[in-house]
Amino acid sequence: MTNNSTNNATETTEKNDFIRAIVRDDLAEQKYSQIVTRFPPEPNGYLHLGHVKSICLNFGLANEFNGLCNLRFDDTNPDAEDQEFVDNIKADVEWLGFHWAGDTRYASSYFEQLYKWAIKLIEQGDAYVDLQTPEQIRENRGNFGQVGKNSPYRDATVSENLQRFDDMKNGKFGNGEAVLRAKIDMASPNMNMRDPVIYRVMHKEHHQTGDQWCIYPMYDYAHPLSDAIEGITHSICTLEFEDHRPFYDWIVNKVGFEKEPHQYEFARLNVNHILTSKRKLKKLVEDNLVTGWDDPRMPTIAGMRRRGYTPEGLRDFCDRVGVSKADGVVDFGLLEFSIRNSLEDTANRAMAVINPLKVTITNFDEAVADVENLKKPTVKTNLENGILWLTQPKNSHDESQGNREIPFTKEIYIDKADFEINPPDGYKRLSPSNSEIRLRNSYVLKVEEHIVGDNGEVVELKATIDPKTLGNNPEGRKVKGVIHWVSATLGVPAEVRLYEQLFTQEDPAKIDLENLANEINPNSLTVVNAVVEPSLAKAEKGERFQFEREGFFVADSQDFTSEKPVFNRIVGLKDGFK
Ligand code: ATP
Ligand code: MG
Repeated sequence: MTNNSTNNATETTEKNDFIRAIVRDDLAEQKYSQIVTRFPPEPNGYLHLGHVKSICLNFGLANEFNGLCNLRFDDTNPDAEDQEFVDNIKADVEWLGFHWAGDTRYASSYFEQLYKWAIKLIEQGDAYVDLQTPEQIRENRGNFGQVGKNSPYRDATVSENLQRFDDMKNGKFGNGEAVLRAKIDMASPNMNMRDPVIYRVMHKEHHQTGDQWCIYPMYDYAHPLSDAIEGITHSICTLEFEDHRPFYDWIVNKVGFEKEPHQYEFARLNVNHILTSKRKLKKLVEDNLVTGWDDPRMPTIAGMRRRGYTPEGLRDFCDRVGVSKADGVVDFGLLEFSIRNSLEDTANRAMAVINPLKVTITNFDEAVADVENLKKPTVKTNLENGILWLTQPKNSHDESQGNREIPFTKEIYIDKADFEINPPDGYKRLSPSNSEIRLRNSYVLKVEEHIVGDNGEVVELKATIDPKTLGNNPEGRKVKGVIHWVSATLGVPAEVRLYEQLFTQEDPAKIDLENLANEINPNSLTVVNAVVEPSLAKAEKGERFQFEREGFFVADSQDFTSEKPVFNRIVGLKDGFK
């Protein structure tokens, strides 16, 4: 209940950050009648947690200020891009709960227009074809302490440049033999202004335009102009693009737009233990260090979805992190907090025993025989062939979810961790000196005997139940703990996948590409054979549950079947639980 009110609070409170302040001012001054933002992924990988922040910001602004947000693929490099990535990015944005304005857009749809503007720049004397080798171009660019050197091709005539650019377009140059450069200033203190390359030769098919082009615009050229074409008002990107803003403004101005988009930079999202480099995530996939882009350990949206994270939780996390210009690192615990919060009231309850220990209830038949007379009238039961069916709500926070039937039998499983021969101080579960406990939704159980196996481990408990305690407190004594259990005869064997961080390092960005394999946390995935209550075999793929006392789990969207249920642990119940 408390969670509900905090959620509502974050939703109704006006968000305030420097970008929203700018937007409010712009609207108040009627600089724009409507704001237009965009989310501009390059389809060269799957989206990750960092992108979630950018998506929530761009689409969030449009939603809050009655504006529009476009989804535009910045697909200027066919070398790394693929339709698979386009399709998955669209699915991920929709799953997060956002809708883009109009059709999906592609920078590649503007290639013809961008090409014409390149000619216009040449005609204006603002661009030239450079035939230096890539090494010469790099060398002559200089560096921070040293001004660059003009290319010998810099002062070619307009007609020479037009001819060379035409040759570039017509495939007369091989890869790397010619580039088109903006003519700005080789001595600029900003390296991005030292005649940046705006077109390159690339003999490569494109996933949208096929073999139509063998020259491709550079991102820094295509991006601002695509923004301008689409009437973007606020072009929001991460801080590393701050140095690119002068070129952004230069190119939009040279092409001659009346309404210029403006670029604003915010601090990228960094979360400890989370890797948000597409290049490295790709490496994990390509080298089979994970099972795919949707491995539940991956910080990709596809991975987090399969892990059972909720879109509400991810959006709430982004709200809590906020937007600023100050770089920082957010604790992973905050992400888990938001996810847990989003599941608290919505996930149905169920019982699953992760490390089963058999308990035989020696007085079962006599004890349940008189159930109709001894139970509390509010408990619904049905005794049938030695099985006592207990009716319980699927979700006590949400009656509309209906009920489930839990079979209680002579043999049950409890978790191994709930019985200790030598309990540590403060242990509140079962031990030889504290032999009574409440079975969740059921009777009070008393351990009469524990049987130890050859290796010294407890292998079975013999116990009795107090017939009068179904829904009632025991008479004359207090029983404190409550533990979960599953019928040993009717419970369903299930595979449970327990996840930990993929990297134990605080900052996995520091791990070299080649070293990723050695740094993966060997405990990032533990597979255990659990036993779950029978109703869970009927779960839907992707359905989320709270397993009592264990945490939140999801029926795996790929591998779950009724015959062989597979559950992923989404998140524990609270930090440091157990
Ligand atoms: P690269 O360009 O190296 O392939 P990228 O992560 O920048 O990787 P894009 O597809 O260009 O990938 O990103 C799309 C948008 O998401 C960009 O506007 C980018 O600034 C933003 N973005 C990427 N990573 C983060 C992050 N960690 N935090 C916030 N925004 C991010
Ligand atoms: Mg990028």
